[in-house]
Amino acid sequence: MGNFSDRHWSDILGHVRNGHPELFRSWFNNLEPLEMQHGVLRIRPAAHTQHDYLSRECQAAFNEAAQQITGRLVTVNFAAPLEEAEPAAPLSFESETDQIVLNPNYTFENFVSGPCNRLAHAACTAVGENPGRVYNPLFIHGSVGLGKTHLLQATCHAIKSRHADARILFISCETFTNHFVEALERGVVHQFRYHYRHVDTLVIDDIQFLGARERTREEFFHTFNTLYQSQKQIILSADESPSNIPSLEERLVSRFNWGLVARIDTPCLEVRMAILRKKARLRCVELPENVAHFVAANVVGNIRELEGALTKMIAIGQQFGGQLDMEVAKQAIGDHVPEQIKPVTITDILDVVTSHFGVKASDLQSKRRSRSIAFPRQVCMYLARELTPLSLEEIGGYFGGRDHTTVLHAARTIHDAKQQDSELTCTLANMIRTLRPINS
Ligand code: ADP
Ligand code: MG
Repeated sequence: MGNFSDRHWSDILGHVRNGHPELFRSWFNNLEPLEMQHGVLRIRPAAHTQHDYLSRECQAAFNEAAQQITGRLVTVNFAAPLEEAEPAAPLSFESETDQIVLNPNYTFENFVSGPCNRLAHAACTAVGENPGRVYNPLFIHGSVGLGKTHLLQATCHAIKSRHADARILFISCETFTNHFVEALERGVVHQFRYHYRHVDTLVIDDIQFLGARERTREEFFHTFNTLYQSQKQIILSADESPSNIPSLEERLVSRFNWGLVARIDTPCLEVRMAILRKKARLRCVELPENVAHFVAANVVGNIRELEGALTKMIAIGQQFGGQLDMEVAKQAIGDHVPEQIKPVTITDILDVVTSHFGVKASDLQSKRRSRSIAFPRQVCMYLARELTPLSLEEIGGYFGGRDHTTVLHAARTIHDAKQQDSELTCTLANMIRTLRPINS
């Protein structure tokens, strides 16, 4: 296309579309810009009927758009179509079905915020109210099942409810990659760019799957820049922080830091209970407090597992008249968590540590600070960090209500001591073997 860039072309189309929506047709996206020479921009439609329509109705609109975008006195000329070609198969990125349909339940109302996700939640809420203005780009990361997709979709719902005509594109990273590869293969990269760069909010879930292909990464980089420069909102999620994702290059990582990077951590007991209550209410089932506590205390992995336990309880409960009581909960959790991955509990750790050091559990859980107690207590905290998904706050809570910095310090102290002391290394390895006989 010589001196004429793809960017110009998609801008011209955008200009016609915005300025003359009554003239615009979806097949405009398939027009082929040929070249620009001596002030004439030649554009080729695919079919004679299209050529007739363009020459008859659209000459002025295209001239005006081309002049605006290039800043030069350009005239558009519609070239004759090559031949009446077979209708091409529709491009997947232009079909509605390829976009992720938002889950109506993934709203802010249905999201429980707590210490584990406070920043991410606040940032998403702010972006939902003011897209493109507050945190741009917004990058949410955390391991699987901790609510990233839920938060991203809640943000989209919020934007939609305030700006009904906002163009929001929510897709998985895989879809972005597939679309780009398809566009490359079919020689319609300009259409791909038009599709992805004419949105008000672009949300890409699980960006860690961007992959190693140079061209895809390059394309993502330019999509990012184009949107960012026009103050369009960009929201991304991943299972790792930007600097820990190998497929993101340095230049992208630094751009993410222009906005906000927020991490979601494993939820603590209170948040897990609140989520259970919310999910139970959504499903219109009554969940007694002691049952919620029991389930939240035992299913400590991600939230998806917690929801799985609730589903199971509802199914089992139906056989017993619909009540969700402790009996039902025990049955449900009993086989929800298979034996070999049954989480190690604080009680298991206390058993092992007290019998090794000959101290009492009640002392470890007290405020006493003598070394004979403090050291085994630090070992407990270290093991709890290594073997359970409990948060620092929860672990501290079990050991005399200590705060998270004490737990962090204890875990580090034992970790460092282990490097110097081979006997301690063996002791810890034996303890871990006792606690997790199958995995170790
Ligand atoms: P991710 O995308 O991080 O893997 P999802 O967003 O798919 O996780 O969340 C998994 C499930 O857990 C979803 O059903 C979601 O509604 C629920 N969930 C996660 N965090 C929360 C929360 N804080 N409040 C309510 N539901 C949550
Ligand atoms: Mg997800």
